[in-house]
Amino acid sequence: MSSRTVSRRTLLQGALVAVAFNPTSRSWASTLEAGAVPLPPLDGELLLDEASRTAASDDFGHIRHHTPWAVLVPGSVKDIVAMVRFARRQGLKIAAARGLGESHSTFGQSQVPAGIVIDMSALATIHELDADSAWVDAGVRWHELLQASLPSGKSPPVLTDYIELSIGGTLSAGGIGGQAFRWGLQVDNVLEMDVVTGRGELVRCSRWRERPLFDAVRSGLGQFGIIVRARVRLVDVQPRARTYLALYDDLHRFLEDQRRLIEDGRFDYVEGSVVSSNGGRAYQLEVVKYFTPGSEPQDSRLLAGLRFQPGTLQVTDGSYFDFANRLAPLIELLKQLGVWGFPHPWLDMFVPARCAEDFVQEVLSQTTDADMGQGPILLYPFRASALTTPFLRTPNDRHVFLFSLLRTAIPPTPENVASLVQKNRAIVDRLTAVGGKIYPVDAVPLSPADWRRHFHPHWERFAHAKRRYDPDHVLTPGQGIF
Ligand SMILES: Cc1cc2nc3c(=O)[nH]c(=O)nc-3n(C[C@H](O)[C@H](O)[C@H](O)COP(=O)(O)OP(=O)(O)OC[C@H]3O[C@@H](n4cnc5c(N)ncnc54)[C@H](O)[C@@H]3O)c2cc1C
Repeated sequence: MSSRTVSRRTLLQGALVAVAFNPTSRSWASTLEAGAVPLPPLDGELLLDEASRTAASDDFGHIRHHTPWAVLVPGSVKDIVAMVRFARRQGLKIAAARGLGESHSTFGQSQVPAGIVIDMSALATIHELDADSAWVDAGVRWHELLQASLPSGKSPPVLTDYIELSIGGTLSAGGIGGQAFRWGLQVDNVLEMDVVTGRGELVRCSRWRERPLFDAVRSGLGQFGIIVRARVRLVDVQPRARTYLALYDDLHRFLEDQRRLIEDGRFDYVEGSVVSSNGGRAYQLEVVKYFTPGSEPQDSRLLAGLRFQPGTLQVTDGSYFDFANRLAPLIELLKQLGVWGFPHPWLDMFVPARCAEDFVQEVLSQTTDADMGQGPILLYPFRASALTTPFLRTPNDRHVFLFSLLRTAIPPTPENVASLVQKNRAIVDRLTAVGGKIYPVDAVPLSPADWRRHFHPHWERFAHAKRRYDPDHVLTPGQGIF
């Protein structure tokens, strides 16, 4: 039994359970007192106790904390439908979250000050697994899906670097990784979804059915519906992965080589990062070729023409699963050191290739090691032609770079966090000025006007979808869009 199951059981055992809502006092009642509206019958439970509500007021960022009035641990999709309808009637807000205290948001995006958080990790069943796709609950983590699909030699085509994220949470954002140059993001590889809209309707949508909802919900930041199930594309994968790491001292060459690699497709995975080297910074290429034992990759052919620094190449082989799960040991160590629990004022950006070199140089020149707190700086490109998701906003260029400052606030003081968040904001202003876009999962204060600019020229479409699917603004207030 996992520690997660134990903690949920403990929470349920000690929990105070609501049976009604009093619209006059705007509070829950654990008995059916006069004037109270009974809750709909639930297969799961609505938790009111402080421990559950406090857990739902935290996320990976540890920066914002809004305590909900209740936490729904759904026992079925029917519970989610019933509670969204109830919330709509009673003027309450609702948001889905990965799990109590396990949300990977960094700025309160899954929190709800006056309303209900739905713990999606309670619904985490893999319902079907066939040759081309898997039909899964939104609370399933990519890690779990991969463990189930790999025995048949199948994998989702794109995985995030960290695979403990929920399928529903990443489909609401985007889901980028080193295979995105070939396949697009995870949102470009979902085939069908069951969604509970802000009207409380359960709707199945896909490219061929209820297309406007399908297009709204992918990268829709939880604004239009709660994804309850998804059919995720699976592809054949080879069982082994050979990883090549090599350093560049020249940013121009690094970016050029990365762009060349995503065009010629000789590797299966292309990422890169900015690393500390000899008291300065260097650029680390990370590329991977999958293979079957007996037909090992030909290193010299794969590396031909790349201009990394001689003597810096490292080559390692491992299983596909260990490669996909490569961050697990590091994260275990960070947890043991207590650093995983520090605030994370992260900033992820999409930078047009045409100005990537200048922009990256400018940001790096203003970013000290102390500003990063040893967090990684990611830098890698993908191709705009692989993208199909209208509300995933990316710059207008053939190639786009993900440039991520994954900061840890050390020291973890409110002053340091505030200063780093302010730095994020200033960088976002520069990014916008050069035609870049944020990947909106981060610790950046954004006004409604910023959001309008972010979704331009699709803002009207975004606002129209809100009116159509969540006219009373029940869903996901923590994004601060409306
Ligand atoms: C350590 C770490 C590593 C990461 N690595 C990557 C990476 O490699 N690539 C990448 O693209 N991103 C990455 N991210 C960002 C991540 O994809 C987003 O933060 C994602 O939204 C988190 O998913 P979650 O399951 O924790 O969702 P939550 O934080 O619980 O939710 C995120 C948002 O989506 C909404 N939401 C959650 N579930 C649903 C649902 N079922 N239906 C509708 N709305 C929902 C929430 O209300 C909230 O607004 C990383 C984040 C962390 C903390």
